[in-house]
Amino acid sequence: MNIGIIGAGQLGRMLALAGYPLGLRFTLLDPAADASGARVGKCIQGAYDDPVKLRELAAAVDVITFDVENVPVAAVAPIAELKPFYPQITALGVSQDRLSEKTLFRELRIPTPEFHAVDSLDDLQRAIATIGLPGVLKTRRLGYDGRGQYRLRNAADCDAAWQALGGVPLIYEAWVPFSREVSLIGARSIHGEVAIYPLAANSHEHGILHHTIAPYRNSDLQQQAETYLKRVFKHFGYVGILTIEFFVLRGKLIANEMAPRVHNSGHWTIEGACTSQFENHLRAICGLPLGSTAPLGHAAMVNFIGTIPARDAALKLTGLHLHDYDKQPRPARKLGHATAVLPSPAARDQTLKKMLKLARQ
Ligand code: AMP
Repeated sequence: MNIGIIGAGQLGRMLALAGYPLGLRFTLLDPAADASGARVGKCIQGAYDDPVKLRELAAAVDVITFDVENVPVAAVAPIAELKPFYPQITALGVSQDRLSEKTLFRELRIPTPEFHAVDSLDDLQRAIATIGLPGVLKTRRLGYDGRGQYRLRNAADCDAAWQALGGVPLIYEAWVPFSREVSLIGARSIHGEVAIYPLAANSHEHGILHHTIAPYRNSDLQQQAETYLKRVFKHFGYVGILTIEFFVLRGKLIANEMAPRVHNSGHWTIEGACTSQFENHLRAICGLPLGSTAPLGHAAMVNFIGTIPARDAALKLTGLHLHDYDKQPRPARKLGHATAVLPSPAARDQTLKKMLKLARQ
């Protein structure tokens, strides 16, 4: 079976690497000739919205998926008619717009921060009057890793926030004084089979995921998160991996966003779970039985952002699994990650300290 992946970033690369043992083949589409995923599969070079390249991809493969969220829905809709396209473009469309995403959460009774659409300075003032401060103004589209966000602490920040982001559709959200950020990743197959990983606890720096520990054991939160994830699965008749990121506030979950794809906070599953998120995504979209999501120990995953440690130094750390995405270094660019899986939370925390030191060298 040949799998088409729109986007050949590190996620596409890890999908392909997970699929080769199952005998799957991969054709990717990416604008960059030197994309990370282009090094591990046949890559068609072209824009995500190039109709000719998209048709070329569709003609070459049996099923189509994507590794980026900003794939224009209108451009891919015609190829979703030609070949199975998972996760469905309806889910992709909702996840591309923070307003539709939060509106869906509200419809599905999934708690989410209070929000208000903002298209003018007047709207922003109204949103602040309704929701209050502190808050965060975000672009509705194309914002990720903390980009396109402005935090407002008091009314005097209003003009500066509008100056920084105004001119495109925006959303104002209440600031959530969370105690922790967690994410839940689950797979649903073509046949409706569901497999859900344990929660992961995530630490962000400058809005970018920095490190993750998993499993984050809290049976009450796990149950809440699974209930919410299943509501989204049911809503879309979803196929593939789905991630929901939550804030934890006083023992309750508040959904921040969803990603209809494999997720950075699930990289730990490559070495830390029976079946990785990448393999389960492929199994789900190919109609294969899903694999066990049971953790194999206590995993820590650290991202290498902007710089990647010297290979020698990293590999000297016992049990460290290094993933170098083979990307050109650039500030704030995810260049790789490392995972370690330990027998106890205490041992994991000790190793995590060493990994964090390595990431900061
Ligand atoms: P996002 O791009 O929405 O995932 O935001 C990136 C990060 O900014 C989140 O992981 C949080 O750490 C922080 N953040 C975003 N929105 C909020 C919010 N409403 N309240 C508190 N923190 C937030």
